[in-house]
Amino acid sequence: MDDTILVVNCGSSSLKLALFDQNHKPLASALAERLGDQSPHARIGDGGAPVALPPGANHEQALEALIRAFQDRGLMSSQPSAVGHRVVHGGETFRHSALIDDSVRDAISECSGLAPLHNPVNLTGIDATRALFPWVPQIAVFDTAFHQTLPRKAFHYAVPESWYRDWGVRRYGFHGTSHKFMSQEAPRLLGRTPAATSIISAHLGNGCSITAIRDGVSVDTSMGLTPLEGLVMGTRSGDVDPGLFEYLATKGLTAKRVHKALNGESGLLGISGQTNDMRSLCELADHGHEPSSLAIDIFCFRLAKYVGAMMTSLKQLDALVFTGGIGENSARIRQQTLENLEILGFVVNPEANKHHGRLSDGHIEDSTSRFPILVIPTNEELVIAREAARFANRSGSA
Ligand code: ADP
Repeated sequence: MDDTILVVNCGSSSLKLALFDQNHKPLASALAERLGDQSPHARIGDGGAPVALPPGANHEQALEALIRAFQDRGLMSSQPSAVGHRVVHGGETFRHSALIDDSVRDAISECSGLAPLHNPVNLTGIDATRALFPWVPQIAVFDTAFHQTLPRKAFHYAVPESWYRDWGVRRYGFHGTSHKFMSQEAPRLLGRTPAATSIISAHLGNGCSITAIRDGVSVDTSMGLTPLEGLVMGTRSGDVDPGLFEYLATKGLTAKRVHKALNGESGLLGISGQTNDMRSLCELADHGHEPSSLAIDIFCFRLAKYVGAMMTSLKQLDALVFTGGIGENSARIRQQTLENLEILGFVVNPEANKHHGRLSDGHIEDSTSRFPILVIPTNEELVIAREAARFANRSGSA
C-alpha cells in the first residue's frame, strides 16, 4: 500500500509506532519495550502478534523489525510517504511543526536542556528513522508548539526578568497535540468553526493539564516550565509552594531529592500511599480506603479550581471538554469535579455522564447547564499524522 504515514513516539526504552493511510485512517500500531535490555519485547497491535528482537536491541533495530512486520502484513510498501515524530520540547524556537533537516535537528538538540529526559530520546527515534528512510520527509511535532500563542501575562512567571531572558524560565505548556485536537474536535461536535470557538480542554491521563483555548488558540495552560506544574497527576504533585524546597532542606532533603519526590512519589500515589492508577484508586475508595478517597477529593477539587481560573482567560465559553484516560473513562471523576463547579453554572446530567460516548454525541451536560460539557477521546497520533501529511503534500507539490 502506498502513501502511508508513519507516526513515531520514542521513549527512553520504548518505541511506539502508528500507521495511517492517506485519508488519515489508522492502519496499524506497534510497540517495542525494554529496548537496550537483554529481553526486549515488541508486538503489532494491542496485545497482538509478537515481533522478534535480538537481545539488547536498540531503537533503530526495533524500528527496522516493526517496519518489516508492517510490510510483511502488506500494510505498507517499501517506505512511508512521510514520518511524523512526537518531540516533547520545542522551546520558543518552534511555534509550529517543522520539516526535519540538520539545522532543525540541532535546534531540537538545543532544547534538550529544558527536557533532558525527553528530547535526547526523541532525537534517537528521529536519527533511526532518518537512517532508515533518508529520502522521506520527516516532521517534528512538538508538545509545546500549540501553547506558543500564550500571551506574555500567561507565560511569564513573577520572577526576576533575567531568569526568562538568560535561561528561558517561563511557562511552556505540554500535551499540546491533545489540546490542539480538542480545539478541532469540539467545534466539529458543536457545529462551529474552530477559529470562532472557545473551550477549556482538560487532558486527564497519567499526566494532567488544562488549557484555555480562545478562538482556536491556546491562551493559558496549567503546565509550566516543566510538566510538573498545575493539576494533581498520577505521581506528580502539580502546584506546591516553592518555599517547600528551603523548608525541606532543613529536614535534610536536597533539591534533587525533593524534585524526584514531587515528580515520582506524589500526586495520587503520594496521597493514597497505594497507587497512581485512578481506576484502582476508585476501587480502593469504594472499599472504604480513606487515603484513596482523599486523593480523589484533592484531584477533583484542584481540577475544578483550575476550570474556574481558566475561565478568566476567555470572553465566552463554548464547552468544557474532558479527555485522556481519566477524562474519557471516569464518570465519577467528571461528576465530582462538576459538582464543585455548580456555582459557575456547570450542571452535569448523571445519566448522560454515565453513558457518554456510547451515546456518542459527547455531551454530558444537563439542559439547565450554562455551558456544554463534552467528553472527547483524544488522538495525538492522528494530529501528528495530519501534520506530517500536510508537509508531505507540500513537498510533493513543490
Ligand atoms: P497516559 O497519560 O499514560 O497516556 P492515559 O491517558 O491512558 O495515560 O490515562 C491513564 C489513566 O486513566 C490511569 O489513571 C487509569 O486508571 C485511568 N483510567 C482508565 N480507565 C479508567 C476508568 N474506567 N475509570 C477511572 N480511571 C480510568
